[in-house]
Amino acid sequence: MRDGVTGADPGLSGKVALVTGGTRGIGLATVRRLAQAGATVVLTGRDEIVAKEVAAAVGGPVTGQQLDITDADGVAALVKGVAKEHGRLDVVVANAGIMEGAPLGMIREDAVQRMLTTNIAGTIHTVQAGGRAMMRARSGSIIVVASIVGERGGAGQSVYSASKAAVANLALSAAKELGGFGIRVNAVAPGVIDTALTAELSEKVRTDTVRNTPLGRLGSADDVAGAIRFLAGEEAAFITGQVLGVDGGLVL
Ligand code: NDP
Repeated sequence: MRDGVTGADPGLSGKVALVTGGTRGIGLATVRRLAQAGATVVLTGRDEIVAKEVAAAVGGPVTGQQLDITDADGVAALVKGVAKEHGRLDVVVANAGIMEGAPLGMIREDAVQRMLTTNIAGTIHTVQAGGRAMMRARSGSIIVVASIVGERGGAGQSVYSASKAAVANLALSAAKELGGFGIRVNAVAPGVIDTALTAELSEKVRTDTVRNTPLGRLGSADDVAGAIRFLAGEEAAFITGQVLGVDGGLVL
């Protein structure tokens, strides 16, 4: 991947994008990719200082703001504020999410609530607010980050998997509701991507995953960012309501 925000892809010039959970991993790779394509990007994280530092490190027209996606009013206010400040909002990437693994019989109720509130309610808040902000312009692209386990289930990840199935389905309903406003809504379903979220997977799970992946490796955050970049832009102008696997063929 190219460093910084200068690149040969000007396809999102003049566009404004918001990426939730842009402080690391898939979100940060997406911020870089959208900025390289010429977009002005607002990234969010739960800690304001971290969000601002990460944005400054990316450079270019990238800013960082504090946001906890579990706060519905906070999400609505931030999205409205971004659209007002920049005069438009073209791309929203509902990326922020958490995973707390445990067998279904052992998972603690507080972990269940955290995952459902962050992954499902937080993504609903983001898509809702993004859709509202884009309606007047009658154009826009919303991308939800789901997961391969939302389709296939995952041992030790049942609640997380259920939450990801929910957000993939949310993208389909939102695509139906918002299509009349020229707004596209799609999801990406990453396989196992090498980020902080998967850092605690055992060596055996990693090895088995690579063995079962036709392309023979784990995914990178940049692999997912590339798919999101595609769905964000004009190249995907007639694509909505899709769940795009980014898994090296693991689902096959
Ligand atoms: P990371 O843990 O590396 O990053 C998660 C991001 O979400 C961070 O930027 C974090 O920001 C942010 N975040 C977490 N909770 C909240 C919250 N309540 N409000 C706002 N921001 C929040 O994970 P990944 O990059 O791996 O994952 C990104 C997305 O991709 C998630 O939705 C995940 O479920 C999904 N995914 C990941 C896969 C993988 O293998 N890695 C596979 C399939 C899907 P901060 O801590 O600064 O607040």
